[in-house]
Amino acid sequence: AVAAPDPEASLARRDATFAQVQEHYFAHPPLIERGWRHHLVDTRAQTYIDMVNNVTQIGHGHPRLVEAVRDQWARLNTNSRFHYDELSRFTERLAELAPEGLDTVFLVNSGSEAVDLALRLAQIHTGRRTILAVTEAYHGWTMASDAVSSSLGDNPRALETRPDWVKLVAAPNSLRGKHLGPDSAPAYLADLDADLAALDAAGAEVAGYIAEPVFGNAGGLMLPDGYLAGVYERIRARGGVCIADEVQVGYGRLGHYFWGTEQQGAVPDVITIAKAMGNGQPLGAVITRREIAESFAAEGSFFSSAGGSPVSSVVGLTVLDVMRDEHLQENAATVGDHLAARLRELGDRHPLVGAVHGMGLYLGMELVLDRETLKPATAEAALVCDRMLAEGCIVQPTGDYKNVLKIKPPLCITHESADRFVDALDLVLATL
Ligand code: PMP
Repeated sequence: AVAAPDPEASLARRDATFAQVQEHYFAHPPLIERGWRHHLVDTRAQTYIDMVNNVTQIGHGHPRLVEAVRDQWARLNTNSRFHYDELSRFTERLAELAPEGLDTVFLVNSGSEAVDLALRLAQIHTGRRTILAVTEAYHGWTMASDAVSSSLGDNPRALETRPDWVKLVAAPNSLRGKHLGPDSAPAYLADLDADLAALDAAGAEVAGYIAEPVFGNAGGLMLPDGYLAGVYERIRARGGVCIADEVQVGYGRLGHYFWGTEQQGAVPDVITIAKAMGNGQPLGAVITRREIAESFAAEGSFFSSAGGSPVSSVVGLTVLDVMRDEHLQENAATVGDHLAARLRELGDRHPLVGAVHGMGLYLGMELVLDRETLKPATAEAALVCDRMLAEGCIVQPTGDYKNVLKIKPPLCITHESADRFVDALDLVLATL
């Protein structure tokens, strides 16, 4: 047998050639060798509960997925200019799942591509340029998806460097924003009315609006009740296109809802999905109304070499089959409710816990130094993550201040593992 590489030596080799603009989890990360369900195992046979991998929707190493991919790779993998039934079955399935009226699917390879395409669709369909996006958001790394990303946790200069076609509106952050609490939607909508009036006065007609229906990158913050429906009504009244970025929070993760927009009682014109739909296989999609998709013809045709390939289509179909047969959305609801309740209890004992956000298995624990001022406990959040690693749990911070522990494990996580995670967090919080 070949000896496992030394983790630090392997890290040095990675740093020598892999672009250093991308951070890795942990200063001294374990060298991960394999995954199983919601667990990861390193080369020293340490096991970890994986609370970070919302991409790995149905769990690591799922035998059904392995089998389906092996079989499809052996039979056929090609591009979608060819005709094969896997693609027909997959797009049909996605259109069935999509909100009312969204019947047309584009298949791409990532969330960034999906967002990029959604923005182009909005601009082409309306013949306008201006896109409204909210602060504290992340939508991807390509030119256009980066342009609408303003998360300071990812880019401290984001607010100064947006291109002129992007107009940022304040995130309706009901914990730290201008208006507080779950009933703050009317106040945020009044602010939006003022923003829209200013755009009207400047002659900047709105092509579209993009936001996550639950603020995933801000740490799983729920939007105030009625906010998104109010926004969509205003954007549509101006002829704009409403884009819901469901890359992180959609696809069953919220447990009680398949789509984030359902939780808000709002129906978008375009949704973007990726991550979970491929369980780690590069897979993304835009689902929209036929007339919006058809506008794209004005810009020529659309083609993505690997988007919607037979292998990707089979991955997508198998993920949906496993979700259905293993009742994973239901598991997200029951384990998620239990986990959220236990995390909130930790708040009774640990003053560092400022709030628990989210729903189902998209949760965020916001750490603060002071519950009055809400001063972010950024350094403490990093320390908690390091100590949780030693306890066999992988968790990472997010948000503008990197003080929200994001809790978004594979949807197959059990009550036992959820409890073990909370017990470990209880111990670790007591050490601070
Ligand atoms: N949208 C959201 C909400 C995301 O969180 C991400 C990735 N973190 C993206 C889009 C981009 O997806 P990808 O990394 O697959 O390009």
